[in-house]
Amino acid sequence: MMINEKIVIEQRLSDLMEKAMRDILPLFQRIEAVEEENQRRVLESFRRHKVSDAHFQGTTGYGYDDFGRETLEAVYADVFGAESALVRPQIMSGTHAITLALFGVLRPDDELLYITGRPYDTLEGVIGLRPGGDGSLADFGITCRVIELEDGKIDIARVNQAITSQTKMVAIQRSRGYACRPSLSINHIKEAIKAIKDDHPHVCLFIDNCYGEFVEDREPTHVGADLVAGSLIKNPGAGLVPSGGYLVGRKKWVDKAAERLSAPGLGKEVGPTGDALKPMFQGLFLAPHTTAEALKGAVFASRILEEVGLLAEPKWNDPRTDLVQSIIFHDRERMIAFCQAIQATSPVNAHVLPVPSPMPGYDDEVIMASGTFVQGSSIELTADGPLRPPYMAFVQGGLTFIHVKLAVMNALKVLMEKQLV
Ligand SMILES: *Cc1c(COP(=O)(O)O)cnc(C)c1O
Repeated sequence: MMINEKIVIEQRLSDLMEKAMRDILPLFQRIEAVEEENQRRVLESFRRHKVSDAHFQGTTGYGYDDFGRETLEAVYADVFGAESALVRPQIMSGTHAITLALFGVLRPDDELLYITGRPYDTLEGVIGLRPGGDGSLADFGITCRVIELEDGKIDIARVNQAITSQTKMVAIQRSRGYACRPSLSINHIKEAIKAIKDDHPHVCLFIDNCYGEFVEDREPTHVGADLVAGSLIKNPGAGLVPSGGYLVGRKKWVDKAAERLSAPGLGKEVGPTGDALKPMFQGLFLAPHTTAEALKGAVFASRILEEVGLLAEPKWNDPRTDLVQSIIFHDRERMIAFCQAIQATSPVNAHVLPVPSPMPGYDDEVIMASGTFVQGSSIELTADGPLRPPYMAFVQGGLTFIHVKLAVMNALKVLMEKQLV
């Protein structure tokens, strides 16, 4: 590349960045207002429960009388406005946490009604929506019906008609996940829960809260949800938690999930915590801030990438209720170059080149930039997606806004040098 081409690119990058920063600054103020509200709630809860360094000492073996774990769960319940919580390193992922909720509550001949369209990919095996899920809900004679969103909203009238005496659980996925649908606001979730409960007080209202925690100033349990589940390698772990999941909600449902996690009759009473407690407390304390940083990163990425002609979903100034940012590249090479440049600007494995490759459960090749401290962590900056039109990558997370900014600017520079934007 000629020296003057380099200068032209540098100038273009710096103009774009200045404009993007100017545009998004008012949105940052709104994000920080939510952060402050959430941070206050978390801090007050730590104080109320007198969290002390003795609570960081975990247990071994059965983990009886683990008062650090009991305090952590009391703090979680408090922060989420719930009666009870189950927060454990033994919960291996978000999918596992959701599985505990489903198998804890549902019994043979019960029906699960998913009212936000087809659930997140990994749950299809759990529910038995695709063949091969051995030990799925379907295997136990538990049926599932899916009701699609209508214009991005829960079709409340249809849901209320669809519920029968067999419907034990109604499930809502707050985040868009990796589907082409908007995430749902807490206000809309509140409205749906109220309308459903008014007509059908017997159902258990479950929320898959993955990617949604601390994006707004309330959680689904604050607006009537009976049971909520999520992953600690997403928002509420703030990047500090190496593994774990949580459930919060009504005591009777949380207890049932706990019976499923350990064993019937043992429930919440067992579960050694080893070295897990300190990062879990610390992660929860940092989660409002880290989530805000990741949100700022998503706003910046969408603003600046829209400026060079890519399509961002949600748009930079759309209201956000989760962390997922899709970017549509409309071109295979452009998407690959972008993901590779994000990996090259990661703190871990920056020297490794991600390439498109086959993945179980996907028909198309997938590329994944994931230079994270914790394997698969998506509160850390990642970019991935299947290589098929419209060439959409999911860009999310970021432990600090500045890291996301540096990584996106580097990716943009690479795209310009390769004349892909
Ligand atoms: C990530 C996610 C899950 C599953 O979480 P894993 O930790 O990957 O198993 C479920 N639902 C939604 C909406 C998610 O974003």
